[in-house]
Amino acid sequence: MFEKAQSLFPGGVNSPVRAFQSVGGTPLFVDRGAGAHIWDADGNEFIDFCCSWGPLILGHAHPAVVERVTATLSNGTSFGTPTRLENELGELILSNHRYAERIRFVSSGTEAAMSAIRLARGVTGRDKIIKFDGCYHGHADALLVKAGSGLATLGTSSSAGVPEAYARETLVLPLNDLDALEGCVATYKGQIAVVAIEPIPANNGLLIQDPEFLREVRRICTREGILLLFDEVISGFRVGFEGAAGLYDIQPDVLAFGKIIGGGLPVGAYAASEEVMRHIAPTGPVYQAGTLSGNPVAMAAGVAQLSECLKPGFYEALDRKAARLVDPVVAHAKAQGYSFNIFRRGSIFWLAFSDAIHIRRSDQIDSDSMAYFSTLHAALLERGIYLGPSGYEVGFVSAAHTDADLDRAAQAFIEALDVAFA
Ligand SMILES: *Cc1c(COP(=O)(O)O)cnc(C)c1O
Repeated sequence: MFEKAQSLFPGGVNSPVRAFQSVGGTPLFVDRGAGAHIWDADGNEFIDFCCSWGPLILGHAHPAVVERVTATLSNGTSFGTPTRLENELGELILSNHRYAERIRFVSSGTEAAMSAIRLARGVTGRDKIIKFDGCYHGHADALLVKAGSGLATLGTSSSAGVPEAYARETLVLPLNDLDALEGCVATYKGQIAVVAIEPIPANNGLLIQDPEFLREVRRICTREGILLLFDEVISGFRVGFEGAAGLYDIQPDVLAFGKIIGGGLPVGAYAASEEVMRHIAPTGPVYQAGTLSGNPVAMAAGVAQLSECLKPGFYEALDRKAARLVDPVVAHAKAQGYSFNIFRRGSIFWLAFSDAIHIRRSDQIDSDSMAYFSTLHAALLERGIYLGPSGYEVGFVSAAHTDADLDRAAQAFIEALDVAFA
C-alpha cells in the first residue's frame, strides 16, 4: 500500500511526518480504531498514543461521537447556511471559556492561526508579528518562518515558496527570554501587531514554559498595544477545558483552536472578545470565509466530544491515567541511570533523551539524541505500542486508555528503553 501511495502522493502521504522518514521503516496503514486501540491493514493491533496527533481525547469511535455524527449525517452533510449545530457548539464553548466572547469556526488549526494573525493585523493596523522558535502555528506563509542567523530577529522562511518579503514581517524570538522580547518590541516600537505563542509549546518537544514568562509576555503586550495570541490548537480542551489560558489564568486577546474541538473531524476556530471579533467580516473589514466552515457533521462531532470533556472529573481522571503510564517509566529510567525523562503536562507527554530538569527552548534539544528515539519507536511497534513517528512530537493519553492498557504500555516502554540504551 505504501508503494501504491508513493505513486499517488508526494512521499506517499498527505502530511509529511506520517511518512516515517525520521524513524525509518514504513508507515502503518490503519484500518480501524476502537477506544485506545488501532488495527493496521495487516491485522496488527496497537495501543495508540498518537491519537490522530491530539484530536481524539476520547479515543477512537467513541459511542457518543459516532451516534451524534451518524444522526447528523443522515440529514445532509452541508448547506452553506447557518445551522443550529453551530449555535450549539459555539454556545457550549463560549459559556465555558472565560476569555472567549465570540468565536468563528474554520476547518483546520492552520486556518485558525492564519486568520487570528490577520485579525490582529486588522485590529492594530500594524504589519509585523512575533513568533517563538520552537512553536508551530500551522503552515500559513507568515508562520513558516524561522529565526535568522546570528542576533537578527528578522525571520527567514522555513519553507521554499514563502517569499522573503513575507518572512521579514515575522520576527522570531527564543522562548523563555524576556530580554529578547523587550529588545525586539523596543526596536520595532509601534510596528508589532501580535505576539503569537503556544502557551504550552508541544510541536517541537514539550517546551513547558514558566508561567511567569507567559505573564510577563502578557504585561509587555498590554504595555505596547500588541495583541497576544494564544495558539491553543493542542493545549485547548486538553490541559483543561479552558486550555492553558484557564490553567495559568492568563487572558490572551485572541485564541486559536483546532484538534480536539472537532471531535476528530476537520474543525478549527478563533475566538476573542466581542470588541476584537467585531473586526471580522461581515461586521468589520477583516475578510475571512469558508465554504465548509461550521460544517454540521463536524459541529456534531465537536458537540459530542466537548460535552464529554465538560463532565465533572474528566481532566483529573485523564491526568491520573497519564501519570499511570509515565511515572513507572521515568522511575525505571532513573533507577537504570538512563539519560532520559518524560515531560508531561496533563495528558500530553514527550520523551526526552536528556538529563535536564527543564527544557524550555528548542535549542536545548540535542538532535543527536533522536537516534535513541528511532530505536525506541521500533521496539515499541514490536510490542504493540504506537507513537507518532518523530522524536520531536508529543504523545497523548485519551480517556479511552484503560488501566490495563496503561500498565501494559508502561511495561513495553520499559523494555523498549532497555533496548534503546543497550
Ligand atoms: C496542529 C497545530 C496547528 C495546525 O493545525 P492543522 O489542523 O494541522 O492545520 C497549529 N497550531 C498548533 C499549536 C498545532 O498544534
